Amino acid sequence: MKTAIIGSGMIGLCSAYYLNQQGFDVTIIDEGDGSDNCSFGNAGYFCPSHMIPLASPGIISQGLKWMTNPESPFYIKPSLDIDLARWGWNFYRAATKSRVEKAVPVLNQMLDESRTLIEDILSETKIDPGFGSKGLLMYCKSQHILDEEAEVAELARKCGQDVDVLTSAQAEKLNPGFEIDTVGAVHFKNDAWFTPNTFMAEFQKYLEAKGVVFKFNTQVTGVEKNGSKVSALLTSDAKIDADQFVVATGSWSAKFLNQLGVKILVQGGKGYSFTLPNPPVMPETASILTEARVAVTPMQGGLRFAGTMEVNGLDLSINPRRIKGLQKSIPAYFPQFDEGSFEGLPVWAGLRPCSPDGLPYIGKTKKFDNLIVATGHAMLGVSLGPITGQLVAEIAQEEKPHIDDSLLKVERYS
Ligand SMILES: Cc1cc2nc3c(=O)[nH]c(=O)nc-3n(C[C@H](O)[C@H](O)[C@H](O)COP(=O)(O)OP(=O)(O)OC[C@H]3O[C@@H](n4cnc5c(N)ncnc54)[C@H](O)[C@@H]3O)c2cc1C
Repeated sequence: MKTAIIGSGMIGLCSAYYLNQQGFDVTIIDEGDGSDNCSFGNAGYFCPSHMIPLASPGIISQGLKWMTNPESPFYIKPSLDIDLARWGWNFYRAATKSRVEKAVPVLNQMLDESRTLIEDILSETKIDPGFGSKGLLMYCKSQHILDEEAEVAELARKCGQDVDVLTSAQAEKLNPGFEIDTVGAVHFKNDAWFTPNTFMAEFQKYLEAKGVVFKFNTQVTGVEKNGSKVSALLTSDAKIDADQFVVATGSWSAKFLNQLGVKILVQGGKGYSFTLPNPPVMPETASILTEARVAVTPMQGGLRFAGTMEVNGLDLSINPRRIKGLQKSIPAYFPQFDEGSFEGLPVWAGLRPCSPDGLPYIGKTKKFDNLIVATGHAMLGVSLGPITGQLVAEIAQEEKPHIDDSLLKVERYS
């Protein structure tokens, strides 16, 4: 059976991997050249620790405080755009205790299974993207935030995760020679990471060798319909026909799907990263500077710092004030680093495809029998890539997804 996937990000490639394993004849179409998208420059975490969606109690009041600070890590651009307004309203509505309590078990199961699947993929493909499995340290500078993280740790334990709440001295022992200035940390021991740039490039080559066809520099502009089916993709190049179609277009998904009459809410959540090739010392674990919302990942090629969430449409421009805010926060946690060492480093920007409730959209649309949507993974698209690919392959084979997908419905906001 012929399947065409639109989008060659983590979600598109993982879908291709499982579809190819099941004997589907797969073509991936992307308007880019395959060397960059949101799945390349990110922090590379596989993080079961993040089973609480972004839209959660506390984010609204914290977010409002951040909105007035040009160096803060979170920002929603005030705009008259109707889709952004609907997104914001649904984000606000999703940030309640009862909604989050429903979302946590689903995310936890998906993150946990995906964490196992990525190791299977790496062992099967023999790709070496510098996989690290020493967990994630949430460094805290204030006791109040450490107490809040300890509550998350308690919830994570209830979800079956292995977590320690550490004093600063205990945390320091995990990274000998790496100095920290914190009150303590929470160590989520199930978390892992890799270098996404290596993985994405090597995964493409692996899939190509397995027979997956890539059509880069080709924009999908619409579809040809035949009753309740899509019969072909209209592209900037030739028409592409297939039996099944997968939409893995990341932050561009609402733009693409809305023109087909499939209403979903997705906003780009812009984030930045920069990689210090020769850090004064290299930590052995990944970490997050909790108050500053900065991710720190030891990668092939250096130490990567990533952060900020600017909900700002599809704009990829770099805002120097936020980069400054991000860089300023690092020496406050890591005294061996100074702000000057980041000067002149190239900054990468990517758009996280954010749904209002922080849960992905995975499944078929009501309008078309053979159109599968896999998008909206927000800050977790790397972590959830493998499980999403597996679910897409199940749906393509007309199987019932093995995960309860009632909260993942594509048209839940239509
Ligand atoms: C700073 C930062 C740090 C992050 N850190 C992490 C992390 O540590 N762990 C984690 O799990 N996640 C992380 N994320 C989130 C993660 O990177 C994303 O969720 C994920 O990459 C989304 O993958 P995707 O395949 O959906 O989209 P993308 O990677 O954006 O791919 C979508 C592709 O679709 C193509 N496309 C769109 N429209 C069309 C069209 N009409 N025709 C043809 N092609 C089209 C685009 O060109 C693009 O290549 C981070 C993100 C950022 C920005």
